[in-house]
Amino acid sequence: MSRVFVAGSINMDVVATADRHPRLGETVAGREVLYFPGGKGANQAVSAAKLGAPTTLIGRLGADAFGKQLKAYLGAQGVDLSFVQKTEEAHTGTAIITVADADNTIVVVPGANALVGVDDVAAPIFAKGDIAVSQFEIPLPAISAFFQRARAAGATTILNLAPAIEFGRELLDLVDILILNESELGLLAKRDLHDTDDHARFTEAARSLQTGRGKIICVTLGKRGVLALVNNEPLIIHGESVKAVDTTGAGDCFVGAVAAQLASGKTIADALTYANIAASISVQRMGAAPSMPTMEEVSAFLR
Ligand code: ATP
Repeated sequence: MSRVFVAGSINMDVVATADRHPRLGETVAGREVLYFPGGKGANQAVSAAKLGAPTTLIGRLGADAFGKQLKAYLGAQGVDLSFVQKTEEAHTGTAIITVADADNTIVVVPGANALVGVDDVAAPIFAKGDIAVSQFEIPLPAISAFFQRARAAGATTILNLAPAIEFGRELLDLVDILILNESELGLLAKRDLHDTDDHARFTEAARSLQTGRGKIICVTLGKRGVLALVNNEPLIIHGESVKAVDTTGAGDCFVGAVAAQLASGKTIADALTYANIAASISVQRMGAAPSMPTMEEVSAFLR
């Protein structure tokens, strides 16, 4: 089996719950504080590892308590952390989230994630058939260098275009598989895709990205499933009908599952079908990384 390499962010999400949000300048008493491992890179690596792929994460943690906790957690999920560096120059990436009235506010401080550089991605050795995965929560030069090295070794590159940011389109030349959600597609293709169920409109928007033949574009559509362009032809995978309790991290679960399946030699169509099922299991549980299913859980669903 080939390896999955994920270069990306590692965060601690600190969630404070309260009866209501404070107004500007006000202090309110909260109910509880919860700590969740997060960051798209870490979540995607956990997803791939739990689904059975040998998975290496490349990123940075601060020399602090959150860094220690995240390292222990990710290691316990089976993620190889040999290329996660500890830095004295910044704290571990942290998201401060307040939840009240079924609504949230979020401040994300990238910290150590912002220091991931070209040198960080120079160490891992790719082999032909490996899968290299990244997203937009680490600096762009590191992502480009990571994909260049992966491509040179014959690995397949997957870019999860999240969160939506401005980026130079040359990066797309280094990408084999682009994964994005419908709002990210709307922003990138400059189309209003709100309130549409029309696959033809998503297909047209995805085609407008003009990323070239041979590339695969995969648009996740929440409970409606997935629409992919493979060899420029649409492939539709319908969403699973499940009772969703928390969709946080569904996209990350999907990306990690696609990578794990491709690393095990599956076709893109099979990988997308499997990832759609894995992500539908993750939305039935709370949290991001903790909600990612194991290979056995997906197999049980398929039986
Ligand atoms: P998030 O930002 O919440 O992590 P996202 O916006 O990146 O998610 P989505 O398109 O919402 O990504 O979801 C990713 C995949 O998860 C979908 O393509 C689908 O396979 C699965 N999924 C998400 N929501 C549901 C749901 N309510 N029911 C079944 N499957 C779902």
